[in-house]
Amino acid sequence: MDKTSENRDHPVLVLVVPCYNEEAVIEKTAGVLAGKLERLASAGAISADSRILFVDDGSKDDTFDILYRLSGQDPVCSVLKLAGNSGHQNAILAGMMTAKDYADIVVTIDADLQQDIEVLDDFIAKYKEGCEVVYGVRNDRNSDGLLKKATATMYYRLMRVMGSSVIPNHADYRLVSSKVLGALAEYSEVNLFLRGLIPTMGFTSDIVYFDVKEREAGTSKYTLRKMMRLAADGITSFSARPLHLIGAAGGLVILWGIIMFIITLVDWIKGRNVPGYTTLLTVILIVGGAILFSLGVIGEYIAKVYMETKRRPLYIIDSVIWHGPSGATDDKGKEQ
Ligand code: UDP
Ligand code: MG
Repeated sequence: MDKTSENRDHPVLVLVVPCYNEEAVIEKTAGVLAGKLERLASAGAISADSRILFVDDGSKDDTFDILYRLSGQDPVCSVLKLAGNSGHQNAILAGMMTAKDYADIVVTIDADLQQDIEVLDDFIAKYKEGCEVVYGVRNDRNSDGLLKKATATMYYRLMRVMGSSVIPNHADYRLVSSKVLGALAEYSEVNLFLRGLIPTMGFTSDIVYFDVKEREAGTSKYTLRKMMRLAADGITSFSARPLHLIGAAGGLVILWGIIMFIITLVDWIKGRNVPGYTTLLTVILIVGGAILFSLGVIGEYIAKVYMETKRRPLYIIDSVIWHGPSGATDDKGKEQ
């Protein structure tokens, strides 16, 4: 059964919105997104059964209470409550998998309204032209702090060097069709990095550029630590290049050792006695450091293998408040 071909002109859109401690902004976001869906539906771009699915990623503030109230007031708002904080990537996946059987297309968008929702029209237009994936790519990074800008640039550069195929300046603001969702459900990896995974799937895709705005309210939930983690995951989840580089570095060090040996031997034959304390110390420190660093990188991969073998679920669903096409509440997934 191919849902997409049937509904390509009039797709059911589900906006998946991950929320972690977003009490300051979530009500405004809900209003803005609901307004946009209504405009898109009345323009005939999408089906009137389109929905917003908020994923409460184990918020510790009043986010869920607000979402619960909103879902009671407006059937367009549905809520997926995760049992604990699973992280942005897993929250998005949870939302996409919950919307999978209902939606023709899913757009993932942050809760803080930083991403321009007016480009949703372009997303949908590209989908109607035949794209299965549409990536939202930010025009510039002016609204970011200097640290964030610098880390982002470094991140994409490093990703490319390390062999991970991410779209630069694309951060999970994207449209995927139900075909992609079906394919995504087949992946069972625990180390999930959607930005790297989706481009490797090979579906027809395109890019839509958008302007980034300031966060409407609240603070960034991505700490430097979380960003570094994401960067490391992005590389080690997709590429074994760091391991090859370590091998190559080892080879170079051996070559260096051989050259040093020949030089020392020649000096010895010529009767020159070089005092080598400093050289020795330097070499020991450099090589020792390189070995420890390499062990750390290999350890990252082993940790990944370890986590994969456990096959733990990526997220645990606490409850779902879902309004189907009729407006009736459906408690699907409750027992998961
Ligand atoms: N988020 C989440 N779980 C987390 C961290 C963040 O669901 O553990 C959500 C957050 O509520 C927001 C989105 O992910 O909707 C992006 O986070 P944020 O805007 O704080 O990141 P930034 O835009 O600063 O990179
Ligand atoms: Mg943000």
